[in-house]
Amino acid sequence: MELFGVEGLPEVRPGDDLAALTAERADLQEGDVLCVSHTVVSKAEGRQADLADYDPGERARAIADRIGTLAGEQKDPRFARAVIEESRALLTEEPLLLAVTAFGHVAVNAGIDRSNVPDADLLLLPEDPTASARRLHEALGVPVVVTDTSGRPFRLGQRGVAIGWAGIPAARDWRGETDMTGKELGVTVEAVVDELAAAANLLTGEGDDGIPAVVVRGFAFGDHDASDNLFRDPAGDYVQDALEQWTYDPDRLRQKAGEDLYDEAAGEDRGVGDGGDDGDVGDERDGGDEGDGVRASDPDGSGQGSDPNGQRSDSEEGRQDGDTSTSSDGDTQ
Ligand code: GDP
Ligand code: MN
Ligand code: MN
Repeated sequence: MELFGVEGLPEVRPGDDLAALTAERADLQEGDVLCVSHTVVSKAEGRQADLADYDPGERARAIADRIGTLAGEQKDPRFARAVIEESRALLTEEPLLLAVTAFGHVAVNAGIDRSNVPDADLLLLPEDPTASARRLHEALGVPVVVTDTSGRPFRLGQRGVAIGWAGIPAARDWRGETDMTGKELGVTVEAVVDELAAAANLLTGEGDDGIPAVVVRGFAFGDHDASDNLFRDPAGDYVQDALEQWTYDPDRLRQKAGEDLYDEAAGEDRGVGDGGDDGDVGDERDGGDEGDGVRASDPDGSGQGSDPNGQRSDSEEGRQDGDTSTSSDGDTQ
């Protein structure tokens, strides 16, 4: 299997024909899968937004006040409002906004980005990324996976995930097949579109590479049953259910974990899990150590400190770490 970044794509603007822009620069062949970062899909679909467009209202103000108090710095209630509008539910309101999007993806700050957005304050996720993938798939003739970089529950660091796909099933269902000893597999449904998205993210990077599309050549789905579900049905999602009932209690967390987990040096050792996006409401970077009272500048262990001006814009990382993406433990049930 080989992966190629699609080079030379321009800064994408509202109304751009992303399929045409891609087709001109990628020699797509039968059997290829195209992974596309949602940033360019969102841009082409006009999902840029400005904070001035949002009238915060009471709930967003209350959320921003609360998170701002926890973080020890003011938070923009208009951003909280944007997250609320992009969500069908908030699993947590503090110390970060963990949101379920309309299409079922769980992401910190509803996946709203502030990085790689030159012409606006915010870039929202596509309204329906699977519909976006379908349009690209129909235009390009190869399976398409729309990706975002996202955090994982229980682990530090981010990786690419699929938020929409077309022309390829989401998962191969190994249940009923056998392992090397002949034992029948009972639980494994392999989320291949996430695996492709994660691989593609290795080439897109997170910054100024300017490579929002990756061609995967030589991937074979194989002779397996297919499953197209990636987002859990909330009715069966006990992690979401638990989070909805959870209360943020930094003292309890610290006691449980032991002080050294929150120790500056220990945090720097961990080194990953950059929580980005200062200045955003609900940004987990601020949330991780609230109540610590000691190291509010670097709660996530990124070692990068905080930006007192709230100017850093690597937002996508800002919503990662707390992303209790529901697909994490798909094989355990
Ligand atoms: P996300 O993970 O989808 O939220 O997006 P990132 O901000 O991590 O960007 C993924 C890749 O797309 C990086 O290589 C960016 O430099 C690149 N990128 C983002 N927007 C554009 C654009 O409008 N044009 C081009 N050519 N590259 C872009
Ligand atoms: Mn993003
Ligand atoms: Mn990214």
